[in-house]
Amino acid sequence: MSHNRLRVCLKSTLLFAIPICLLAAFAQPSPTHPDSIVVFAPHPDDEVIGCAGIIMQALARGAQVKVVAITNGDGFPAAAAGVTHKPVDQVGPDDFLTLSRLRQTESRTALEILGGRAADLIVFGYPDSDLGNLYDSTDDKVFRQQFTKKNETYALIQKDYHTSVHGKPAPYQRSSVLGDLVELLTTLQPTEIYVTDETDGHIDHRAAFWFVRDAARQVGYKGAFYTYLVHGLPSWPFPPEITPNLRFESRKVDGEVAPRGLPWPPPRRVPLTREQAQRKLESIQAHNIPVVGLPDHQKEMESFVKSEEVFWTPLARSR
Ligand SMILES: [Zn+2]
Repeated sequence: MSHNRLRVCLKSTLLFAIPICLLAAFAQPSPTHPDSIVVFAPHPDDEVIGCAGIIMQALARGAQVKVVAITNGDGFPAAAAGVTHKPVDQVGPDDFLTLSRLRQTESRTALEILGGRAADLIVFGYPDSDLGNLYDSTDDKVFRQQFTKKNETYALIQKDYHTSVHGKPAPYQRSSVLGDLVELLTTLQPTEIYVTDETDGHIDHRAAFWFVRDAARQVGYKGAFYTYLVHGLPSWPFPPEITPNLRFESRKVDGEVAPRGLPWPPPRRVPLTREQAQRKLESIQAHNIPVVGLPDHQKEMESFVKSEEVFWTPLARSR
């Protein structure tokens, strides 16, 4: 090889090498990434209902984004019935696993719609409807979920988090959930955390908050900690339909101010462009499950499409 050819070759190698190195750097979670967000979803779909805009905006500015599905969404009999076309009282473990697979697939598709990668979805695989029981457990007993009959973490379209890191699933125990969260926060060292609010009407959503809060405290987390609201009480959101031109509102319902237990206006309001609101709608529509007896389920999820997303900072005063 002549000297000239070598130089050309080196030049072209460098030309290719630089982008490949950059790609490799982005492909691995970096513990010191200066801009890294983690969105915790108690069930597959909460991440886009609450944070689709946040995810899009973070990806657009080059931040590292991870979405963590804490449960598999596998404890919803009316949805298992809708997906498998069976009466609600006849669905069994296989039907709940069918639902679980579908919901994981939908989360992956939704994330890709927002510009994320399949690899940015982390599936913890804990039991839907048992997160509160796990948090309240005082003896660290192993739970067996009543719907799937599973007693350890699993995922169906990829490895669950614990198996991918430790080579085997984690038992459904309080210490497993907390341990996985502590490990994940230690590895990723995010600069922003998003999780459902403690005032949420769904016990899994409240327990997700308690677990993530405890894990953040355990690792001495110093970044931003935001909560989002899905099942606000006594009713939420307002206006209760798709309104990409309007902001979220607080309203009085039966003499009570909604959302209950939260300051209004919320401490953080993040505007969405019309294009972002449209893409948020598409990501919610990727989560499309027929739910027996709840014909308005999809419409209710889509009503979170507004001209903004809103967040609270419950830990700000205590830290
Ligand atoms: Zn949920």
